[in-house]
Amino acid sequence: MPEISVKDQLKKLIDLQKIDGEIYELKQVLEEKPKIVEELKNEFEAGKAQLHELEEKLKLVQLARKEKELDLQAKEDQITKYNTQLNEIKTNKEYTAKVKEIEGLKADKSLIEEKILVSYDEAEAVNAEIEKEKTVVSEEEKKFQNKKQEVDAEVKTVEARIKELEGQRASFTDIDPNIKARYERLLQHKNGLAIVPVAAGNSCGGCHMNVTHQTINQIKMNEELIVCEMCQRILYVEDEGY
Ligand SMILES: [Zn+2]
Repeated sequence: MPEISVKDQLKKLIDLQKIDGEIYELKQVLEEKPKIVEELKNEFEAGKAQLHELEEKLKLVQLARKEKELDLQAKEDQITKYNTQLNEIKTNKEYTAKVKEIEGLKADKSLIEEKILVSYDEAEAVNAEIEKEKTVVSEEEKKFQNKKQEVDAEVKTVEARIKELEGQRASFTDIDPNIKARYERLLQHKNGLAIVPVAAGNSCGGCHMNVTHQTINQIKMNEELIVCEMCQRILYVEDEGY
């Protein structure tokens, strides 16, 4: 490979950095976006679980009522049976005792009836909660589905753009392999920013630490790649015609 001047190398790295900077940002998008969808999905799933819980609660209330209704039927049967028995009783004492038993059963019966009424109210309240939760869940599902569609489309666009940029990046073949390797390492470890300009006020465009005049002069000499003492990123001076 013919010798390429430091200035030309820098120029190529700056162009490459533009592409890699965009690739880095786009990859961040690819990482972040699905998380939003995931969060919405979790909310939707939690809502569904809550709905299921309420439905189970309703079943229990209904089951308990059925038991009470059977209990009520048993008391009624008993009362009917005792009433029939009343006709066959010979003594007053037995008669009074039976009537008392019947009264007792009637009292039990009305207690059970009350409980059944309460259980209807309870079921109604749970049912109202279920209807409310159903609305919430269906809204959450819609939100999740819409966002998923939106994000899926976005991801496709971003992936296509990354592919395009990676195609462009593949054409940078005439950079010194050692410099390229160094650049790639920095790119990986320094948040996608390997080469930065010296910013206004003589500070590093990456970490904002002060860059000395001596360093700036070294950069301008274009004899070797100069890095920021603090963050190790490769430095360049913007008005040097890159
Ligand atoms: Zn720096």
